[in-house]
Amino acid sequence: MRVSTISILRHRAAPSLPAFSDYLRHVSFRLSTFRFVCMAARQNPNIYRKPQPNKNILKARDNVKEISSLSPVLSLDDGPPLSQNQAIGMVAAAQANFMRVIVQSTCEPEKPRTFTELLESKEEEEPKIGVEILCVVRALLKKIKRRVLVGDRVLVGSIDWVDRRGMIENVFDRSSEIADPPVANVDHLLVLFSMEQPKPEPFSLTRFLVEAESTGIPLTLALNKSDLVDEETQLAWKARLRDWGYEPLLCSVESKHGLDSLEFILKEQTTVIVGPSGVGKSSLINALRSNQRGYGASEMDNWFEPIEGSKWFEEQRVGEVSTRSGRGKHTTRHVSLLPLSGGGYLADTPGFNQPSLMKVTKKSLAQMFPEIRKMVIESEPIKCSFNDCLHLGEPGCVVKGDWERYAYYLQLLDEIKIREEFQLRTLGTKREGDVRILQVQGGGYGYQTTRTTAGT
Ligand code: GDP
Ligand code: ZN
Repeated sequence: MRVSTISILRHRAAPSLPAFSDYLRHVSFRLSTFRFVCMAARQNPNIYRKPQPNKNILKARDNVKEISSLSPVLSLDDGPPLSQNQAIGMVAAAQANFMRVIVQSTCEPEKPRTFTELLESKEEEEPKIGVEILCVVRALLKKIKRRVLVGDRVLVGSIDWVDRRGMIENVFDRSSEIADPPVANVDHLLVLFSMEQPKPEPFSLTRFLVEAESTGIPLTLALNKSDLVDEETQLAWKARLRDWGYEPLLCSVESKHGLDSLEFILKEQTTVIVGPSGVGKSSLINALRSNQRGYGASEMDNWFEPIEGSKWFEEQRVGEVSTRSGRGKHTTRHVSLLPLSGGGYLADTPGFNQPSLMKVTKKSLAQMFPEIRKMVIESEPIKCSFNDCLHLGEPGCVVKGDWERYAYYLQLLDEIKIREEFQLRTLGTKREGDVRILQVQGGGYGYQTTRTTAGT
C-alpha cells in the first residue's frame, strides 16, 4: 500500500499538509470499507456481487464451442451429404475477400415421384457442375487460421444458385501445396525454357529443375521456340537433357509443334508453369486456352461456365517483362487456375522466375539430381561409406564425378551450406520474422534484417 501511495503522490502536485492528512484519512476509509466487504463476502457470499466476466473471455469461450462444432479438415475421400444449397468445388481464383469456386459436385437431385414432377424437373434442371460461384470464406475458418488456397477443394454452403454466390464452409485435405505461387493440390509442374531467345543456360536450368524436384511434384521439362533452331540443335539438346535424367518435350507456340503432346500431358491435372522470363510461358498459356476445341480434345471437354466479368477468358499479356524485378509486369500475387480447353488447369502466374531453393538442404540436394539417384540405385547393395555422405568424392562414395552437372551440384551445395550456416547463426538469435532472405539475380542470397537484435 505504501508503495502505491507513493506512486500516486508522485503523479500529483505536492499537496499541502492538511490536504495530505485528508487524503490519508480518505485512503484508510476506503481500505476499511474494502476489508469490510471482503469479510462480509466470506461470511455470506450472497452479499458480495460476483464480478462480471470479461467480455473477451466470453467471446473466446463461444468461439471455442463453435470451433469444436466445426467438422475437422475434410479428408479427400469424404463425401459429406450435401443439401440443396451446398456443393463441393475447387477454388480457381482469389481476389481480395472473394474466391471463385468451380462447382464439381452437388447433392443428388430429388427423384420425381409423379409424371408431372418428372416433366417439371426436366424443365427446371439447370446444370450446376462447372458453374462458377463467387464465395466469401466463413469467418470461423479465418479465425482458426485455416487458410483457403487457390486449388483447394472446398465445401460451399448457403449457395444462391441464381446469383451464384456462396460461402466456403470447410476445406478438404491437400495432396500438395506449393508456396510460390501459393497453390494447393498441384499435380504437375511444367518447367519451361526456350531453345533460343533466350538460349537455355544450363546452371539456371539446373536451379529450376532442383527447385521443382524439391516440391516432390511430378515435373515435365519442355523447351519452347523449337521453330528458331535447326534439327541438329534440337537433337543435341534432347540427348544432353536425357543424360541429365529428363525426357524433354520440344515445342513451339509459334508453329504449334508439340502443343498437342503438351495438352495431352496437362489434361485432367492442375499444372503450374515455371521458367525464366521470355521463354514463352504466357504465350503458351494463351495458346492452350484459346484453342477452344483443344488440340485433339472434344467439345464436351470445354465445360466451364464463367461468371460474367470474370477475368478468366482474358489473355495473358505477352512479352512485358519488368527489367527491375525480372517478373512479368502483369504478375500479381493473385493467382488463378485457368481451365484449359482440353481439360485440366494451369496456374496463371508465369512470373515467378527466381528459384529460391529454400526447401533444399545440403543433405537433400543429392536427391534432386536424377543422375545421383541413378548412381545410388545402380551401385546397390553397395552404399556410400558414410550415411550422410555429401558425395564430394571421398573414398567409399558411390557417386563419381564424371557427369556434366557435377560442378553445378557442388556449386549449389556450397550455396546451400552458406545459407544454412547463416540461418543457424542468425535465426538462432533472431526471430524468423525479423530476417528477410533476398534472392539475388542469377542465384545466391542476400540477407536483410528488419531490426537489430543484441548478441548476433
Ligand atoms: P514469358 O515471359 O515466359 O511469359 O514469355 P512470353 O510469352 O511473354 O514470350 C516472350 C516472347 O517470345 C514474345 O515475344 C513471344 O511472342 C515470343 N514467343 C513465344 N513463344 C514463341 C515461339 O514458340 N517461337 C518464337 N519464335 N517466339 C515465341
Ligand atoms: Zn557419397
